[in-house]
Amino acid sequence: MSHNHELVSEHDLRRPTEGLFTPHGHSAADLSWWACGYIKNAIKSPASLQRQARDFLKSERISWEYDSYHMETAAGQCLRIFDDLFFFGSLVNRCTITWASLGPHILGQTFLSPGAPRCDIELDIKFTGDSAFDTILLLSTLIHEMCHTFLPIYACDVSGCREKREHSGETGHSSVWEAMAVAVEWTALRAFNMKLDLGISSCTQQRQIFK
Ligand SMILES: [Zn+2]
Ligand SMILES: [Zn+2]
Repeated sequence: MSHNHELVSEHDLRRPTEGLFTPHGHSAADLSWWACGYIKNAIKSPASLQRQARDFLKSERISWEYDSYHMETAAGQCLRIFDDLFFFGSLVNRCTITWASLGPHILGQTFLSPGAPRCDIELDIKFTGDSAFDTILLLSTLIHEMCHTFLPIYACDVSGCREKREHSGETGHSSVWEAMAVAVEWTALRAFNMKLDLGISSCTQQRQIFK
């Protein structure tokens, strides 16, 4: 299967714009490598998108209320902020969030839209109940799923390509997915003292929790 995967210049990566990546155009390993560098740069040398997102996170309290309207608004805000911080702002126009009843052990899952470079992230309606919930668990679930959307949208999709197998893995928790998840946890802790748990060590053993 002979074909090339598109590259992106370091210069462009520091100035993310809409269309930085080509849907289904890149090597999954390259995408993960670029994302890991971008994610870690959020601490010491943030790109302008990351600086704005950091300033917003530090100055504003995201308003989580115990009703579905506010939860949807807050989740949408978080998608934008963490997209700018960790994924070059490349996901927000290609992702939707849906609230659904996912069963007792599933908090979130992601679907690639058939025939389109778009993903739907489903979050469990358990989060929208009127009992107290764990904000960090909700954010961890959302960002776990965002890591799942980046590769299927932008990585090569040619049938039989080694890259396609590499980014999907058996459950989506491939080594390149894991590298991004580790970078996100590391950066969130150092930049925001935010102890996210993307389920990295447990997702291969407890696939029912993080799909
Ligand atoms: Zn390929
Ligand atoms: Zn997962």
